[in-house]
Amino acid sequence: MIPMEKEKIRCLIIGSGPAGFTAAIYAARANLSPVLYEGIQPGGQLTTTTDVENFPGYPEGVTGVGLMDDLKRQAARFGTDIRMGIATAADLSEAPYRITIDGEKTVEAESLIIATGATARYLGLPDEQKYAGMGVSACATCDGFFYRGKVVAVVGGGDTACEDALYLSSLASKVYLIVRKPFLRASKVMQERVSCRENISILFEHRTLGLYGENGVEGVHLVKRQGEPDEEKRSLAIDGFFLAIGHTPNSTVFREWIETDAAGYIKTIPGTPRTILPGVFAAGDVADPHYRQAITAAGTGCMAAIEAERYLSEINKKQG
Ligand code: NDP
Repeated sequence: MIPMEKEKIRCLIIGSGPAGFTAAIYAARANLSPVLYEGIQPGGQLTTTTDVENFPGYPEGVTGVGLMDDLKRQAARFGTDIRMGIATAADLSEAPYRITIDGEKTVEAESLIIATGATARYLGLPDEQKYAGMGVSACATCDGFFYRGKVVAVVGGGDTACEDALYLSSLASKVYLIVRKPFLRASKVMQERVSCRENISILFEHRTLGLYGENGVEGVHLVKRQGEPDEEKRSLAIDGFFLAIGHTPNSTVFREWIETDAAGYIKTIPGTPRTILPGVFAAGDVADPHYRQAITAAGTGCMAAIEAERYLSEINKKQG
């Protein structure tokens, strides 16, 4: 058997969303010679949205792809070694940390920044793909603005769905909240807020069957009390369809070694991107169940790179 190739890296960054590239910009400028593996979705979740209007510094807005391209070029400009590849396994039992890329190659990292993001959950309907970027969104704060004065639906019954419905209700003329159970799972305070908002209608015990429309979403097909004797099908005219049924943090590869919460978000020391392992940091959505914004991800990416720089110089001092 041919032995696996091993490469030594001072600062390894996994993930290419705003957290990963911001970490790379800072790490490269601090002479940490960062290597960044782009992961499953180069550019991260923003590449699936259309326009980004809330990232500071772009007064006229920017496309998600354009923003990520800018960040990538900025990271490359300072010497980040940007590579295609997915972290498929990790051995974080001791430093240097060993990460396997694409199941083929193992690299050794003195410091590691995990910026693998989170993936929004979808219902799994073919229409979600068909209307991606044409009325289907999993980010109300990113895309809500495009539905001013329009009618939208939000799927989900948790805090995210309620928060999204409230946010959208201040922009859209009407918001339908599509909830599969006869009750909301969200916290009491969120439930109350949603119930009090006049332009939100909660459709309990409804499931989505599909979407329709010529050049974008024009409506949704629903079923009430599916499988029951009083099952009822109906269609509603809507302009936007928002998923808020949770996110899955992309932390599987690392879960054996670092602490995660019940949903899989990496636990960091509050107020820092530090994990329980020295030299291993987590930034962006993989460690953030609360904010999940490009700008907050970029902020924690910056913090992770600064922490990596401090950690590496401490080690150098000890060794030197
Ligand atoms: P949750 O897992 O809490 O809720 C997901 C919701 O989506 C549930 O109502 C669930 O229904 C529904 N759902 C899941 N799959 C489907 C499906 N296939 N079809 C229809 N509905 C589906 O996720 P959230 O993102 O809402 O919240 C995650 C965590 O973040 C929670 O702990 C929450 O409290 C927290 N959070 C807190 C906020 C705050 O404090 N302001 C804001 C946002 C999130 P069902 O109930 O039937 O399982």
